[in-house]
Amino acid sequence: MNAPSDKFRERVINAAEAALKAGGSVGPLELFQHMGLLHPVHFDGWRKGNEHYRVLEAWIQAGPEKFGKALRIFGEWVHARGLVPVEASYTRRTLRGVEPLQVTADGHPEREKFYRTHYAPADLNARKTQQLAEKLAKPLDLVVFEKVSEEGNCHECGAELPKGSFLFMEKGQPLCLACADLDHLSFLPAGDMALSRRARKHSPLSAVVVRFSRARQRYERQGLLVTEAALAQAEEQCAADAPERAVRRAQAAVERQAEDREFVQSVIQAIAQQFPACPPDEARSVAARTAERGSGRVGRSAAGRALDPRAVELAVIAHIRHTHTNYDELLMRGTERLDARRLVREEIERVLAGWKRS
Ligand SMILES: [Zn+2]
Repeated sequence: MNAPSDKFRERVINAAEAALKAGGSVGPLELFQHMGLLHPVHFDGWRKGNEHYRVLEAWIQAGPEKFGKALRIFGEWVHARGLVPVEASYTRRTLRGVEPLQVTADGHPEREKFYRTHYAPADLNARKTQQLAEKLAKPLDLVVFEKVSEEGNCHECGAELPKGSFLFMEKGQPLCLACADLDHLSFLPAGDMALSRRARKHSPLSAVVVRFSRARQRYERQGLLVTEAALAQAEEQCAADAPERAVRRAQAAVERQAEDREFVQSVIQAIAQQFPACPPDEARSVAARTAERGSGRVGRSAAGRALDPRAVELAVIAHIRHTHTNYDELLMRGTERLDARRLVREEIERVLAGWKRS
């Protein structure tokens, strides 16, 4: 009797910890998903408004006993962890506006509130708490698909939907934008982040346009559909504070340059340690090349990797290959790359050995 109950307790607690780590907060629906009692596909379908999953509670694969036990253990865990309640709102953006989603069949207020209540660490600062509350309240975006295939018609009016046209999916069927009541919106291509963010904020109705990339096997964001007025307002704001944003960008660039200089210095030091006899100007050029490839954009972990002794050695070897051997010349003359490498290997070893001596 004792063993299985301990095992179940462990399962509940592991799931709760994983859900908290993944989402920053955890509510019953997240707990059940991480326990494998509610399939994420069903949960997503429900969030997207798929009629099939309308009564989400019915999709939780647990009888009353298991359900109650899991929640009892969850409650004890919340208490032991000192978590505090934060109310999430499950909503969906529809063509009629933002609508609340209900979990139960009858929408019983207390049970709905129970499902909406998430738990989060008590030590979050005000800003983090606000961010979490906003995240929990954020309805899913309307999604418009850019068509990548040739054939297809609007399910409602029968209009052809050629490749490159936009369509909206409703209950698994494609609709042209006119039938979906989205044809009054203008397309704003992705690229200008400030403009996109503002246009979306001002637009009473907006949709994210995505296109499926066969090569990468994922949907990629192409831009937004927003109202003409929202776009105009956003453009006006961006024009007004463009100088300010330019200054911020310039500051960021200066910071990146300082980081790059620091990074170059640490690569030079690493080279000096491993190859004490490497001439300083050559060490500097190896470091500069490494920084060019990596630098501010790659972040700390990649910079750390670049300072790994083996990575330093590889960078030095590449430098020797190009500057102390006739490797490049061999390539120019049409020698196969691997043959060329073989031909210069000895010379590289000789230079490398010389530089290792202090
Ligand atoms: Zn249509």
